[in-house]
Amino acid sequence: IFNFNPGPSTIPLSVLEQAQSELLNYNNTGMSVIEISHRSKDFENIIFQAETRLKNLLNLDDNYRVLFLQGGASSQFSMIPQNLLTEGKQANYAITGSFAKKACEEANLFGTTHIAASSKDQNHNYIPLKDKFSLSENPAYLHITTNNTIYGTQYKEYPSFDNIPLIADMSSDILCKPIDGKQFALIYAGAQKNLGPSGVTIIVIRKDLLEISNKTIPTMQRYDIMADNNSLYNTPPTFSIYLLNLVLGWIENQGGITAIEDHNESKAKIIYDAIDNSNGFYMGHAVPEFRSTMNVTFTLQNSDLDKQFIAEASEKGIIGIKGHRSVGGMRASIYNAMTQEGCQALVDFMLSFQKNNK
Ligand code: PLP
Repeated sequence: IFNFNPGPSTIPLSVLEQAQSELLNYNNTGMSVIEISHRSKDFENIIFQAETRLKNLLNLDDNYRVLFLQGGASSQFSMIPQNLLTEGKQANYAITGSFAKKACEEANLFGTTHIAASSKDQNHNYIPLKDKFSLSENPAYLHITTNNTIYGTQYKEYPSFDNIPLIADMSSDILCKPIDGKQFALIYAGAQKNLGPSGVTIIVIRKDLLEISNKTIPTMQRYDIMADNNSLYNTPPTFSIYLLNLVLGWIENQGGITAIEDHNESKAKIIYDAIDNSNGFYMGHAVPEFRSTMNVTFTLQNSDLDKQFIAEASEKGIIGIKGHRSVGGMRASIYNAMTQEGCQALVDFMLSFQKNNK
């Protein structure tokens, strides 16, 4: 099966095999990794290794902490303003898709928001460039969504402004290419696309934000408390963190982020080429310069063929490619763990489907 679902999505086979082999007896404890205490040395080693690996892969130094929390990326939509939207300041948002909009709407519950940029005028098929951003008078932060899962667009450069904390929802493209993480004050991502299983959300936060964060909100919402307790204030999602750590090890074994980027570029290219060379039979949604290497969105010129396309694809083991209703058509989600073989199978199918339905 080639799993093109937008998330949860495919996990590297070697990771699943390792998890299977360790499931009943983790590190000779005589217990499953699901059963060991989150206060045990074995689990502390897992969570410490995951934090260290993530910081290395994002090019971060000791000025940052990594938190492993629950509630999905969606919980961060409210946690960020609760912690960081202070009196007299405005939360700035770039609205480049549905999740960005949801994040902004949630911040509205806690203070003043400002839309710094938007791509709504063209059904979010592009990313506004930095010179099109217009920030509010006194910004608490600027929030962007680096990859728009539904629309298939991705920032190629990040709009960072001096002294304004840049916050990024990287749920659907974290660790897909090398970045200088130090441009960001806070990065968050639900794990279920590029990092492993659902159930854990990672937050990478610069230490100065922990100091200024709001101390009058509920304990479970406080970044500083979670950091002081190494994400072990309460019981964390231990199995998800364990699997996430294995996925980070897998990235290292692939040759690190540069190798992952090469792999992702070449996977995306063959699908975009199939779209571009189809004489309009397939049409890409995103403007080419903002195309995502993670979610390839396209429609069929004749949308009456959509159902047939999906049904025949599934007979070839290609699943999860139905597009989101906001764009229609198809979406192939090709996160880090999707293989070249999977993308080639999709391309072969697209070519034969076109030939048979011209
Ligand atoms: N942000 C982005 C960019 C996403 O793609 C998603 C889910 O697909 C979310 C946020 C919501 O994530 P979660 O389901 O972990 O709350």
